[in-house]
Amino acid sequence: MPSRRNVITFIALGLLAGLSPAHAQGPAEQPAKLPVVATFSILADLARNVGGDRVEVISLVGPNGDPHVYQPSPEDAKNLNAAKLILVNGLGLEGWLDRLIKASGAKAPIVVATKGIAPRKMEEDGKIGLDPHAWQSIPNAEIYVANIRDGLIAVDPSGADAYRANASAYLAKLADLDEEVRAALAKIPPERREIITTHDAFGYFGEAYDFKFIAPEGVSTETEASARDVAKIIRQIKAEKIPAVFLENVTDPRMAKRIAEESGATIGGALYSDALSPPDGPAANYVDMMRNNIKQLTAALAN
Ligand SMILES: [Zn+2]
Repeated sequence: MPSRRNVITFIALGLLAGLSPAHAQGPAEQPAKLPVVATFSILADLARNVGGDRVEVISLVGPNGDPHVYQPSPEDAKNLNAAKLILVNGLGLEGWLDRLIKASGAKAPIVVATKGIAPRKMEEDGKIGLDPHAWQSIPNAEIYVANIRDGLIAVDPSGADAYRANASAYLAKLADLDEEVRAALAKIPPERREIITTHDAFGYFGEAYDFKFIAPEGVSTETEASARDVAKIIRQIKAEKIPAVFLENVTDPRMAKRIAEESGATIGGALYSDALSPPDGPAANYVDMMRNNIKQLTAALAN
């Protein structure tokens, strides 16, 4: 139930909204920002880096949110309808999106950020599926950035120079980050590069940086791991002397903790897999997310 105070605030906000911007007076008005919607927080951060102050990026799935399973709100439909550009990951990540876009009546172009990335194919329960977690490899994130840049230029050509400049500055930052990651991970010996996470979110990371990740849940969090999957992983940890089990920010920590307890493996810190942290957390943007993950991996695995 809205309190009386909330109702009054709401009316006051409505009055303020009615006054601006046509009736606002004072210094030169800021040009309206280009409304962009990204499906999840990691993609939204990449878009903010490319769009800079010309864009207003809204993320549908928020910090620490799971983009595989998401319950859209009426607000999401409104934002999609108002968007001039919609950024999606693709590769089957956002199973809930098509229906939402249809229901919203959105007409904006849709950019698939993974366009041009060679998808990893995964066999799960006898079916071949695609692994959507391409952003976990920095060279892939560079492709995301190029796709976002081209998408922004297409809908806002007068910002082309700004988008190109922002993208090339950010790509240089990502290239440095890639070197930083490789240098840090070089401290982890080959026999300690097989590890456990809750869901299979680090396949591209593993390919790029020479790790093997094993997970009781598949590439989506939609289906839960069975008792048989968990028992199999516990046997595998013991047989192959897998050193550590890592938590994830978007999954329930209980299963990973149980696996660690029953197998004797070390429990590592939380890896950020499918979402950033809130702004005051350790993974508020893509660069900090990768740094956090490297820190957790080296803390548990480097000698
Ligand atoms: Zn995932």
